[in-house]
Amino acid sequence: MGELNFGRLLRNSRRFGDDEALVDLAHGLRFSYREHLERVARLAAVLGHLSPHRGQGMDSVAVLANAGSTYVELWRACCSGAAVINPLNTRLASAEIVDILNDSASAAIVVDAAHAQPIDDLRPQLPHLRTVVLADRGPTDRSLPHDFLLSELLESQDRAALPDEPAEDQAAVLMYTGGTTGRAKGVVLSQRAITLAAYRMQPVVDIGGPQSFLSFMPMFHVGASSSWSFYLPLGGRTVVLPAFDAAQVNATIGTEQITAIGAVPTMLAMMLDHTDFEPRMFESLELVVYGGAPMTPTLLARLMDAAPNVSIHQAYGMTEMSGIATALTAADHRAADRRLQSVGRPALGVELELRDRADASPTSSGDVGEIWLRSDSMMTSYWNRPEETNAAIVDGWYRTGDAGHLDPDGYLFLADRVKDMIVTGGENVYSLEVERAVSSHPGVIGVAVIGRPDPIWGEAVHAVVYCDPNVVTPEELDQHTRALIAGYKVPKDWTLQDEALPMSAAGKVLKQQLRQRFAAAASEDPSA
Ligand code: AMP
Repeated sequence: MGELNFGRLLRNSRRFGDDEALVDLAHGLRFSYREHLERVARLAAVLGHLSPHRGQGMDSVAVLANAGSTYVELWRACCSGAAVINPLNTRLASAEIVDILNDSASAAIVVDAAHAQPIDDLRPQLPHLRTVVLADRGPTDRSLPHDFLLSELLESQDRAALPDEPAEDQAAVLMYTGGTTGRAKGVVLSQRAITLAAYRMQPVVDIGGPQSFLSFMPMFHVGASSSWSFYLPLGGRTVVLPAFDAAQVNATIGTEQITAIGAVPTMLAMMLDHTDFEPRMFESLELVVYGGAPMTPTLLARLMDAAPNVSIHQAYGMTEMSGIATALTAADHRAADRRLQSVGRPALGVELELRDRADASPTSSGDVGEIWLRSDSMMTSYWNRPEETNAAIVDGWYRTGDAGHLDPDGYLFLADRVKDMIVTGGENVYSLEVERAVSSHPGVIGVAVIGRPDPIWGEAVHAVVYCDPNVVTPEELDQHTRALIAGYKVPKDWTLQDEALPMSAAGKVLKQQLRQRFAAAASEDPSA
């Protein structure tokens, strides 16, 4: 019991009564707080039957669906204590979904019409799965494979009450992560962790009053769910788009008078680059929060230019910390100094230390070290992976695998993911620093820096650049980069391509995919 459970946050929002809470543009649905909370409570009662242990074991309810109001309702119903939600990445291959559902042992899954058949095809490989619930949107969906229709289950509930308050350390979320670094691991987040993460954002963001928040991040990523939770205590509405589409996002900001958005940098770039874009489309906006992947100075300058009156914030964090760990505030952005290249300072209640990768001793001030974090928003464990949990959580601290340095005022500058560090001729090169230098060239749309095996240097620095190769040349990029960073960090190889870099659904460059592509190219051409 106690205040740190999501049900408390949700019950508290009853006070917004007839104010609009949730808008589902794909299906033309609008719900007031009264209607929304009623639906969430009914859903919670349904989930309570599907998942009888209510998080005591890990009787999780998986969701495989595109973004929509039902997804938001499911999140809130599960997190109010009805079940543990196991949201699945809709971009995964079948084998990965089988892998995750057998690891999570989810007894029930909620699917939308787009995912009913694929899950039915996989069912023989899913021994734990007992129940498939179809979130139906009309009579035509009924022909799709399912055990229950969500509409019928909801109608059968006469009691619409949220479950009793769960204990703070009860699991609420089981979220698989690790797509950019290897096999997915299930991150277990408790009631306390997710509720505190929602409160933690309040003092960081210039939130003012209730916001109209436009949700277009994938709903299986912590960025989406933590955003809705953080806007909830002040009321306001969440408007949901089924997927990210730059033109649609730009247009919806105007038609729905959106005041707040959250996005990864790639999405912002696509919005600003869209042929229809005009700065007046951002007129209603008051708040932008970006994060999840490195921001380039060029893109940030363009955003600040296009939205001069908007409070812009950056969040740095990860699934394992229920989202936010540090923030660069709107005031920091307005100061427009070199701190714009940092990810800001720890959010309220988050402790941060930099430690030596090898012996975990604190690094000297100003030196690069691995980022260690501590807060009550930290995951409980990686599900079913005691060894990986013990490697990641040491003495109550979470080792992020990211590297960075602090300036004298405590602003954190990311250097890299530790795994992405390149060692060339005995020197450590942090790809982020190189990417920052390369991307400050105006012709560069995107860049990823990776290491390639090299007989002399051990590894050589290789930049894959998304640009127009008819306009930008490797010589020009070399000269530009050399003026900004030490010679040994300047890429030895340049691949210029007129094509976007491969991205995960959460907007992170898939460096592993690039490494594989160039390793395969090198083995085909021994002279390469
Ligand atoms: P995920 O758990 O999938 O959200 O991935 C978390 C990782 O994304 C972090 O460990 C960082 O490597 C990266 N990341 C998150 N926020 C930022 C940011 N603001 N700038 C750069 N990288 C970020």
